[in-house]
Amino acid sequence: MKTYVIIDNGHGDDTAGKCSPDGRYHEWEWTRMAARRLMLELKGRGMTTQLLVPEDHDVDLRTRCRRANEIYRYSPEAVLLSLHSNASGDGTAWGDASGWSAWVAPGASRASRRLAGLLSLEASRRNLFGNRHTPAVGYWERGLYICRNTLCPTVLTENMFHDHRGDVDFLLSDEGLDEIVQLHADAIERYYED
Ligand SMILES: [Zn+2]
Repeated sequence: MKTYVIIDNGHGDDTAGKCSPDGRYHEWEWTRMAARRLMLELKGRGMTTQLLVPEDHDVDLRTRCRRANEIYRYSPEAVLLSLHSNASGDGTAWGDASGWSAWVAPGASRASRRLAGLLSLEASRRNLFGNRHTPAVGYWERGLYICRNTLCPTVLTENMFHDHRGDVDFLLSDEGLDEIVQLHADAIERYYED
């Protein structure tokens, strides 16, 4: 079984905002930690992985997509996971929205949709949908740059809300981080098994 999992960690240490109202959580920092943990987990399961943005600073979306498309040209088995966390406001105040979600571009490939569906199934098994309505297919559609401009199957995951108190506690706990890592790893393993 040939595998190639490209992991995109959202934003950078120079991205404004994108943190919890109390400043405990920074999206760029958490996604880097989660990406590294996920890579270790996937390697442990015998899969090939690649970190799309080894830099700590923000790398623009065009460059991110170009890097991913170069990999895909030579590794047609490649998939891209873009790790993020969500916010219902501008990060200056706590909000009510909570939970996990997966996103594909409108007109996304069948493979992208299959991966999004598997991720959603794993999130549902772990009861991570929070207090929002999730579409029946289990994932959302939106013209996000990284989803629209990558040629490989691509799913962006919004891992909970960083302006929801309970979600931030969850994300910053070892158990929470591990749940998110396992969710992605289990879904990817099933994706390649089929
Ligand atoms: Zn983000």
